[in-house]
Amino acid sequence: MTAAAGDIEKAAGVLRDGGLVAFPTETVYGLGADASDPAAVSRIFQAKGRPPTHPLIVHVAGAEHLDGWVEKVPEPARLLAEQFWPGPLTLVLRRGPRASLAATGGLETVGVRVPDHPVALALLSAFGGGAAAPSANRFGSVSPTTADHVRAELGDAVDFVLDGGPCQVGVESTIVDATGDTLSVLRPGGVAREDLEAVLGFSLEVPSASPIRVPGQHPSHYAPRARVVLVEPDQVVAEAERAQGLGHQVGVFLPPSHDGAPPEVRAVVAVPASPAEYARGLYGFLRELDRQGCDLIVASLPEEKGLGLAIANRLRRAAGPRP
Ligand code: AMP
Ligand code: MG
Repeated sequence: MTAAAGDIEKAAGVLRDGGLVAFPTETVYGLGADASDPAAVSRIFQAKGRPPTHPLIVHVAGAEHLDGWVEKVPEPARLLAEQFWPGPLTLVLRRGPRASLAATGGLETVGVRVPDHPVALALLSAFGGGAAAPSANRFGSVSPTTADHVRAELGDAVDFVLDGGPCQVGVESTIVDATGDTLSVLRPGGVAREDLEAVLGFSLEVPSASPIRVPGQHPSHYAPRARVVLVEPDQVVAEAERAQGLGHQVGVFLPPSHDGAPPEVRAVVAVPASPAEYARGLYGFLRELDRQGCDLIVASLPEEKGLGLAIANRLRRAAGPRP
């Protein structure tokens, strides 16, 4: 789906004026502001209720637009950019002078990415700058994958919402720290670790607890209203029926391995067997179970390879202890 040219121009004008534009990307909807303007960037943190020390990703229209945003692009990062941009890969590099410290959460490094979505690319080209854009949701909650999700959650806090239809990847970008001598994955996402390693020709570190502040690593993140409980795939049905019997309104993520009758609970989501389809649907499923009045969601983790690594990461965070 493409947006009308008039809408793109209008949205680019809002960015130039220091306003907030929600826009579609292939991963999730972003809440964008001019990344070189500290006042504009601070409005993102306000609208999301996000702590100002949590760095934002700067989105540009192409790798040729990185001048000023980053200090330099080391060789391995250049290789990854060439292979995976536009696409769901964020590279953390040394900050250039255009990236305001407000956008980097005070860090001397900056996350940059070129989104693979025609509307996002048209907006960034028309704007001509870099848009700092975290997911367009309240801090800690489920990321939006449609324009309606954004409107429902942020409403008047956004100056303009560009509608580009549902997001095709459905989970956030993979973040690779390329500032040091060794590369590491700070957050699994839309590009599989295996695919990055195939291009690099060496394996990537995946630190369990990054020393750098990564809000995706906050114990509870990507969380629906309902509490999320994770069990083994063959325990999902029994656990769901047990909780429903205790008086919970249970929503269940029924694993693809399940056959036979669905459990008798408030709401059932049949998890797609394809990891790409599961990723695309994940946040919509969580929102749907909230909408249906569930207070407890029973799910299991997919196999942690390919996109399954990102899906499992999001489910673990959704099930993490709530603040
Ligand atoms: P979100 O905005 O919710 O998609 O999250 C953006 C992600 O990018 C967060 O996990 C940030 O911590 C991460 N990020 C952005 N810039 C940096 C940076 N300079 N260093 C480490 N992580 C970063
Ligand atoms: Mg987010």
